[in-house]
Amino acid sequence: MRVVETVADLRRLLAGAPRPVGFVPTMGYLHQGHMSLVARARSESATVVLSIFVNPTQFGPNEDLDRYPRDVPRDLRMSDEGGVDVVFAPGASEVYPRQHRTFVEVKGLQDRWEGASRPEHFRGVATVVTLLFRMLQPDRAYFGEKDYQQLQIVRRLTEDLRLDVEIVGCPTIREPDGLACSSRNVYLRPDERQRAPALHRALESAQKALHAGVRRGTMLRDVMTSVIEQTSGATLDYAAVVDPETLEPVESVDHEARALIAVHLGNLHLIDNAPLIPPHK
Ligand code: AMP
Repeated sequence: MRVVETVADLRRLLAGAPRPVGFVPTMGYLHQGHMSLVARARSESATVVLSIFVNPTQFGPNEDLDRYPRDVPRDLRMSDEGGVDVVFAPGASEVYPRQHRTFVEVKGLQDRWEGASRPEHFRGVATVVTLLFRMLQPDRAYFGEKDYQQLQIVRRLTEDLRLDVEIVGCPTIREPDGLACSSRNVYLRPDERQRAPALHRALESAQKALHAGVRRGTMLRDVMTSVIEQTSGATLDYAAVVDPETLEPVESVDHEARALIAVHLGNLHLIDNAPLIPPHK
């Protein structure tokens, strides 16, 4: 496995690398969710590149950029064991060498749900993904469904800008009690950690209600809301039943939809989502 920190070294290394090149972008502090993306990339690529970059432009002024968990030596060990060929770990000045003035925005998709409370977040995500794609020129890139809105935004920008990268969405990896793996889970206090599976329970309740015949989006949303209301210490940010591509609320789940949920637990903001597939009549 090679580790490179500059775009010049990355380009040199990838110039002769066997294709297809599969790319897994991360912010590091790797866990089983990230490793599932690596495994998928490994299974269908000749060269696997993983990036570790805590992207400053996707953090708001009062967010946790400086506190974001980091452990590069451990990330490198895990990447090596997972079969990664190249780790790209640039510093902020390598990605943004001078004051950056050019940003990618995905109108409509970027402003609601996670974008409502974090106004510049997806602009930062879309910009860094575009930059990384330009630097690496991968054939495929792997993203987790865990960050469902991000996945849809990346799909859309890749299509709109004709970036010629195939976007592969990968299922959410969970702890045994249902909590979606996340780098930020280390910040959960023991009592919060115990309550955190409420998000997954809320999503499962919506799926059960759908199978019991409830189709109205608002009713399925209320099912999720009530699970969170019964969880002490948790406050709902949003729960929604949306179209899987446009992320707009759906009135009735007659085709596949997506349930989204976001909750504040202590100082942490947890998100999760799940498919809502109506049973055949
Ligand atoms: P991050 O390091 O949090 O930016 O995540 C890097 C990539 O890993 C993103 O595409 C995430 O959606 C994906 N990812 C994070 N957590 C999970 C998970 N629990 N299951 C699957 N993919 C995940």
